[in-house]
Amino acid sequence: AAKAEQRSSVRVFEPALLYARRLQGLMITELREAIRTDQLVLFFQPVVELSSGRIEGAEALVRWNHPERGLLMPDQFIPLAEETGIIIDLGYWVLRQAMRQLREWQEGPGDTGDFSMRVNISTTELQSLELIEHVREVLAETGVEASKLVIELTESMAVNGSDIDKYSLTGLRRLGIRLEIDDFGTGYSSISYLRNLPVNVVKIDRSLIQGLGSDEKERDFVAAVLQLIHACGMQAVAEGIETAEQAAELARLGCASGQGYYFGRPMAADKFAELLAGS
Ligand code: C2E
Ligand code: MG
Ligand code: MG
Ligand code: MG
Repeated sequence: AAKAEQRSSVRVFEPALLYARRLQGLMITELREAIRTDQLVLFFQPVVELSSGRIEGAEALVRWNHPERGLLMPDQFIPLAEETGIIIDLGYWVLRQAMRQLREWQEGPGDTGDFSMRVNISTTELQSLELIEHVREVLAETGVEASKLVIELTESMAVNGSDIDKYSLTGLRRLGIRLEIDDFGTGYSSISYLRNLPVNVVKIDRSLIQGLGSDEKERDFVAAVLQLIHACGMQAVAEGIETAEQAAELARLGCASGQGYYFGRPMAADKFAELLAGS
């Protein structure tokens, strides 16, 4: 009877678990393959100088052009890549591809004098001893100036401050790369840390600017956030700008740069090149 029970419980639980594991195993294999065979693709979203509307840069956002499942978004594979360490190779691919693209645009038509490229990195990458070497290598290979690369990291990555994190951040800064806090305002940390971060730019999360344009309190709130960032000697970028009112209000409040569907969705490289050529 005990045996039968065991078997029946196995029958209930195992298939789902096994299936999930097999799916994950399959996806890991596929993701490794995807990096090797260039199934990954970068989309680019314009970053705009709010006072003039000029395109001052782009954020590189990765997608996976899956042979059967179509275009996958980062939240469908980045978490798995992080769990399995594949993110190191994936991040290296993204960095190299983004810098190659920047180089191509620098050589093409359009004003790219101070145009910069933003690349996202994850915790695992920051904690890898290879990161600085990878960055150095890619800059040397492509001939892009370090000052044209902005690396985006989240609040918690910059704050948690293990020795290896500090080593990476300091090393990157020493190369002349700019560092940016992404999704600012969604973290759980106190704001006092902001002063001591080796960071040049703060990107205000879209949840903080969503109510702009309708409400005076919202405006005062964003004004205070901007003041805080500026008081720390840092530059502000607002993300998730979807309306003309939000863009105008942010410009009035002295936010230097912005990004969002209002200015342009993330787009394929050739589309972005057209945009650049016309600017
Ligand atoms: P993120 O770095 O905060 O990027 C901004 C996300 O907001 C992008 O989603 C972008 O498409 C979206 N977005 C931009 N403007 C608007 C807007 O006006 N309204 C709304 N509702 N959304 C807007 P995406 O491309 O799906 O990327 C999601 C996240 O995946 C990124 O958030 C970033 O954390 C991560 N990610 C993307 N590419 C990479 C990568 O190459 N490496 C790593 N480690 N993470 C990446
Ligand atoms: Mg980002
Ligand atoms: Mg963000
Ligand atoms: Mg993010």
